[in-house]
Amino acid sequence: MAYLGNSARTREVLSKYGMSAKKKFGQNFLIDSNVLDGIVSAAGVSADDCVLEIGPGIGSLTQYLAEAAGAVVAVEIDRGLIPVLADTLSEYKNVTVINEDVLKVDIAEIVNKYNHGKPIKVVANLPYYITTPIIMKLFESGAPIESITVMVQKEVADRMVMGPGNKDYGSLSLAVGFYAKAEPVMDVPPSSFIPQPGVGSAVVRLTRYSKPAVEVSDEKYMFEIIRTAFNQRRKTLSNALSNNPALKVSRDQVQGALEDMGLNGMARGETLSLEQFALLSDILQRSNAMIN
Ligand code: SAM
Repeated sequence: MAYLGNSARTREVLSKYGMSAKKKFGQNFLIDSNVLDGIVSAAGVSADDCVLEIGPGIGSLTQYLAEAAGAVVAVEIDRGLIPVLADTLSEYKNVTVINEDVLKVDIAEIVNKYNHGKPIKVVANLPYYITTPIIMKLFESGAPIESITVMVQKEVADRMVMGPGNKDYGSLSLAVGFYAKAEPVMDVPPSSFIPQPGVGSAVVRLTRYSKPAVEVSDEKYMFEIIRTAFNQRRKTLSNALSNNPALKVSRDQVQGALEDMGLNGMARGETLSLEQFALLSDILQRSNAMIN
């Protein structure tokens, strides 16, 4: 089987099956062998690894993964692609294709079934319309995942890797930074795909920490603070947080907490690090407990 990762083979396979890329599933097939090699090597896939691929498409990245990994489990939502994958991956005995919506599957069960509960690596050219829900599901599932190496929209990649003070820093940077070390791998132009996406792309690698980056007494409360802070990015934290009844805090309480932390009482969320959000969350919860 010749590799699919070029434009001639990709067009040939699509026309053989009378198919075209479906926009509603975010289908942009990779046709650049350098990028495919780059993704697999950035993920550090070796024969000891079981890889979970999300959205194998016609199997372009899957072929590269199957050659490098011990086993590949690929979850594809589009039923129409299942016979295509059976054809394009017929030579690879270490690949299992599951026809499901990745947002509905039990990730821990997949890891148990296909890798005896040992940590897996996630590698994918993600469907861009659901990048954040997929990443959050992978982290929040609590399934043993060693790393996530994924192609995403360039702007989303920037949001994942940026720190405080940058315009792209926000709730995604903090959510990712809570669970993993985020590193940019490479930028990828639209010409590396069929059809070409209307945006630039980039590969990022998220290496999961053995425990979250910060200790906080109530993760949910901290993430509600973070979400509120960045929903109203231009407002001071004291205004934004006191406007959200779920947080049960007054403007004075927030200002006081920030000052106790040695920060400006009029600070905005975009200036706080993850450690500072964790501390703010704990202080506000303690002061709430004292009031109530
Ligand atoms: N891996 C292929 C490649 O690199 O050429 C295709 C990548 S394409 C950007 C995204 C793939 O994800 C498509 O095959 C699409 O059908 C699939 N997909 C979209 N939504 C999905 C979902 N909720 N669950 C599983 N797969 C999904």
